[in-house]
Amino acid sequence: MRVAVVRDYDKPLEIEEWPDPVPEGDEVVVTVAAAGMCHTDLHLLHWKNRPLPLVMGHEIAGYAEGFGAVLVHQSWGCGTCAICQRGEEQLCQDIAEAGFERAGGYAEKVLVPSAKYLLPIGELSPLRAAPLTDAAVTSYRAVRRAIPFLRAGDPVLVIGVGALGQFAVQFLRLLTEAEVIAVDLSESKRARALQLGAHQALTPEEVTMPIVASLDFVTEDSTLQLAAGLIQPGGLIMRVGSGEGSLKFGRGGVVPPEVTFTSARGGSLADVAAVIEYAQRGQLQWEVEPILLDDVNVGLDRLRAGDVEGRLVLTPGVTR
Ligand code: NAD
Ligand code: ZN
Ligand code: ZN
Repeated sequence: MRVAVVRDYDKPLEIEEWPDPVPEGDEVVVTVAAAGMCHTDLHLLHWKNRPLPLVMGHEIAGYAEGFGAVLVHQSWGCGTCAICQRGEEQLCQDIAEAGFERAGGYAEKVLVPSAKYLLPIGELSPLRAAPLTDAAVTSYRAVRRAIPFLRAGDPVLVIGVGALGQFAVQFLRLLTEAEVIAVDLSESKRARALQLGAHQALTPEEVTMPIVASLDFVTEDSTLQLAAGLIQPGGLIMRVGSGEGSLKFGRGGVVPPEVTFTSARGGSLADVAAVIEYAQRGQLQWEVEPILLDDVNVGLDRLRAGDVEGRLVLTPGVTR
């Protein structure tokens, strides 16, 4: 099988020929039809903290014998701890995820530890479905966890309306009556957010109103400070983006009383199933742009430059 591999963190990915994975025990092989290129993959290249060679790709859709077209849930927990037992493997402390600790979807085939991680997608195409398993699921769960903070008309910021933020805007409109304010540096992203239902779309400098919650899909010092400067007492600041910004939390910090700080991390198998249903009911809009495995480095450069409107999705089975 053809694989795009990180051999050296400071070099472009290599396209290599690897032996096909051979399943043992409960394992299942999925033929990868589509693998979304998440912004986290850029962070992975910069963090340099996973063992090499690394095959990235955690937004996987494809075909498995006996299952047809499936979405692959990326979070493979230990299966035995209390957190896994309650069905939240994405929070397991012994997690081994596709595209992080285990070989992921930047390849023609991927070895999945168990068929329990495969979710049939019915009439959805793998190309369209791939971003649902991470971009949509992470945003769905983030919004659900924000619901207790949001009453009708409450202003909530969605900072960064890229692939994840575009889903967050839609879930906020579907699940709450909050006033949704999208914030992005890019004009085209702001325009897209308005199309998707945001009440306002602003640059960071234009945001001056008091807010009740901030869902931060960037998480740099500047975005955390923007939220901290406007958040009302008792509000919510949620870090979803993997940026390395920080805020002073201790006494004398900049934040009003009783603000809740939290982070987001992926979603559960049940969250993925719920998101597939929203998509199948036609309640979600999202853009995908296919890209050949051979062009993976072009894709990473475009993602780095912010030159992607929705999600770039690798199609490992397609050759030039
Ligand atoms: P993306 O590249 O598609 O979108 C990022 C958006 O942020 C772009 O529209 C960009 O213009 C905007 N942006 C950048 N800097 C900004 C700033 N200072 N102010 C306002 N907007 C700004 O990225 P994505 O794939 O949607 O991922 C978003 C973030 O979420 C990444 O950091 C990624 O690593 C993280 N992520 C987290 C989880 C999780 O489980 N917590 C899951 C997936 C992705
Ligand atoms: Zn991701
Ligand atoms: Zn576990």
